[in-house]
Amino acid sequence: MANVTDASQNKVRTAEEVNFEIARGMAEIVRSTLGPLGRDKMMVDSSGRTVITNDGATILRETNFVHPTASLIVGVARTQESESYDGTTSAIILTGELVQQAEGLIQRGVHTTLIERGYNIALKEALNHLDSLSVNIESDEQLLQVANVAMTGKQAEAYKDTLGPLCVEAAKSTRPSKVNILVRPGASVEDSLATTGLMIDKQMMNHGMPKKLDKGSIALFDCDLTLPAHTAGVNVNFDSGEAADLYAQKRKEDILKIGQHIVDMGINVVFSMKEIDPVLSEYFARNNVIAFRRTNNSLLERVAETTNAMIVSSLGDLEAEDLGTCGEVVEVSNPAWDKPIMQLNDVANPVGYSILITGPTEHVASEIARALDDAIGVTWIAHNEKAVVNGGGSTHVNMAMHLKQFANSVGGLEQLAVESFANALEVIPATLAQNSGLQPLPSIIALRAAIASGIPHASLNVFKGGVCTEELAVIEPKKVVTVALESATTAASQILRIDNIIQAKEAEFME
Ligand code: ADP
Ligand code: MG
Repeated sequence: MANVTDASQNKVRTAEEVNFEIARGMAEIVRSTLGPLGRDKMMVDSSGRTVITNDGATILRETNFVHPTASLIVGVARTQESESYDGTTSAIILTGELVQQAEGLIQRGVHTTLIERGYNIALKEALNHLDSLSVNIESDEQLLQVANVAMTGKQAEAYKDTLGPLCVEAAKSTRPSKVNILVRPGASVEDSLATTGLMIDKQMMNHGMPKKLDKGSIALFDCDLTLPAHTAGVNVNFDSGEAADLYAQKRKEDILKIGQHIVDMGINVVFSMKEIDPVLSEYFARNNVIAFRRTNNSLLERVAETTNAMIVSSLGDLEAEDLGTCGEVVEVSNPAWDKPIMQLNDVANPVGYSILITGPTEHVASEIARALDDAIGVTWIAHNEKAVVNGGGSTHVNMAMHLKQFANSVGGLEQLAVESFANALEVIPATLAQNSGLQPLPSIIALRAAIASGIPHASLNVFKGGVCTEELAVIEPKKVVTVALESATTAASQILRIDNIIQAKEAEFME
């Protein structure tokens, strides 16, 4: 029989409650990083490796979550990052808020199916309204502004005069996947370099090789450049010293023949995915050939693409037309760097863009490289899709105001869900205000008033408080907002639908 005097109770939490808590908790983790005045997180793993970052996706990727629902939310950050390069923190915060708003509705007796339906109605209407809020990118200055906004709140922001123009150049030159960012700690960020050629983070095999060639003629091998017998690790036995000398002599001659053949073809840059015999390397050095061994596949392919070279699998296959070409090949070094980089300029097919980010420490340079990578993606989207919207809470408050009006036309309990969706959107300006030391509610009210008075582009002035009425003060690609709304709504719906978590059987191995 239950002990009536025992006031303690064991309350078993349902899967729903746990899920809601996880969604809110994850939003809470990244919340303080949002906006230009957001703070950074220091992530430390068990081996003491640290990453200091302000980026929502990086934070969640580096955090050790075990609960399956957490991976749903990490998925939101991943989608956001891969589709729009920015807005990960906003997407996570929005997911948490949509779930929290839904919790309120569930407590009022609204069924999750109706909430999901209402959220989807609201999403569609919000995106329609977003279209009417967007403007077209017309100039490089606007692109520069997009790049600068994408870097706000991160360490990179302090160097935006150097990095902003790099973003615009890169975004206009090529797609983000073809931008190659290298990092060298040991110099100031202002010393960063960029080129439409190719920068290679690889040292030449022998210090005697030339540091500069006026014109590159490039051969790419995905095989060893050694004698066949010496790649297999065979044992060779000799019965006299003479025989051994003779063998060594013959071997050297055979290797030098390979070198001779390469030099005769006019090749002066060699990349091999595997080994290059040291004797051959020395021969190359004496004959003004630069060689790289053990290059990875992606580098080899990048060189192939940008210099119009063909990767061959044996020296015998190599034809003159397989050779790649470029202008100057030069080793760039700086006394402050731990190692130099190679640069291929005036490449035959300038489809890529290379950037070398230097920074006082490895941490700074890497965090800047990450921020730059995202900012280039964002700028590229703005350059290609043209449509941008006002940031600083402007778009979100506009959409929220519109949805609150629109909700009246939605019948049934879904109407409540549309209103909740509108309330959830306001978490973005509220958090921006909070992170800037401003009062969230009065800030949102001031913003609503400005928008209602006919200034739709009004945004939060996070630095001084109040409202900023300057047109296009803070702009970001429409797509960053669209993807965040879509992925947050999808994740929130998925979380709402789960009523139980069951440990599934291990998948059996199929024969
Ligand atoms: P996310 O990972 O979501 O991109 P950020 O920390 O980059 O997170 O913050 C983005 C938010 O900060 C956006 O809502 C953007 O409009 C806003 N923002 C950026 N710069 C400014 C600014 N100068 N003034 C007001 N808001 C800004
Ligand atoms: Mg951002």
